[in-house]
Amino acid sequence: MRPFLLLLSALAFVGCQNVPITGRSQFILVDESEVASMSASEFSKMKKLPNDPRLAKIREIGLKIVAAARRDDKAGVLPPSSKWEFAVINDNTPNAFAMPGGKIGFNSGMFAYAPTDADIAVILGHEVAHVICRHGSERVSQVMGVALAAAVADEATKKSSAKTRSSWMAAVGVGAQYGILLPFSRSHESEADHLGLLFMARSGYDPAAAPAFWTRFAKAGSKTPEFLSTHPSDTTRVKQLQGWLPEARAQMPKQP
Ligand SMILES: [Zn+2]
Repeated sequence: MRPFLLLLSALAFVGCQNVPITGRSQFILVDESEVASMSASEFSKMKKLPNDPRLAKIREIGLKIVAAARRDDKAGVLPPSSKWEFAVINDNTPNAFAMPGGKIGFNSGMFAYAPTDADIAVILGHEVAHVICRHGSERVSQVMGVALAAAVADEATKKSSAKTRSSWMAAVGVGAQYGILLPFSRSHESEADHLGLLFMARSGYDPAAAPAFWTRFAKAGSKTPEFLSTHPSDTTRVKQLQGWLPEARAQMPKQP
């Protein structure tokens, strides 16, 4: 049933959209709400620490970032503040994520690298930027695009049997599911760095914490967590962040 719904979504929502602020055009084949419901199912399976005393801090900073990002949410991608869910995930890997539909996870292993509120704002700004830019739906669309192209090729050569059609439907469903779990591309990472920096600055955190965080994180990380795996090289990332600092500082709330 789900693959069929996904196919309908693909046909109904095919089109180009634009990323806020950067204006990059992106090809999105899926309904954001469908990706959100698949993300919610992944999120529900994760091991959470609901009584972790640091959860309140994650929620507080996360909601500030979401409010700051909303200014650029012309397409209405961000769920209302009351719908966001925050969790400390019982995992020693230094990692964090935000999913379409408003689920934010912060691994217990991330706290050692993020001792200050500004550090947490760096991380959550970056993750909320992935959501507002619909990077998750874009990844799913890329995977589905491959499945659709295969189906078109199949259709062109012969009349599809019911069996071919059903295996294709399954491929679309699996592809979409897989798309959620894939790491982001480098361009997505740079975009999330840029927008995340603006969101944290608007929330009142010094954006200089971002290049400092990434420099520290890169030095400390002997193993490469998913959070880092496809990220731009550390020097590129830090240079880019420094280049965006004046733009971010200009968006900080004025001190009375
Ligand atoms: Zn990222």
